[in-house]
Amino acid sequence: MKCRKCGKKLVVVRRCRQVRMKCTGCAHEYKIHEVAADLDPETEAQLERYTTIIYD
Ligand SMILES: [Zn+2]
Repeated sequence: MKCRKCGKKLVVVRRCRQVRMKCTGCAHEYKIHEVAADLDPETEAQLERYTTIIYD
């Protein structure tokens, strides 16, 4: 999926107890709930690997 600010690809990054979507362009980090409505199947599949996701 794409960054809302710059259109670059977002990647899943793991923090201590949380998962974020990070932009490969501007490095902006999104909380999952911020982008939940826009998740594409590829990203959802990546997130499913994190079984302890905290949707804060
Ligand atoms: Zn960006």
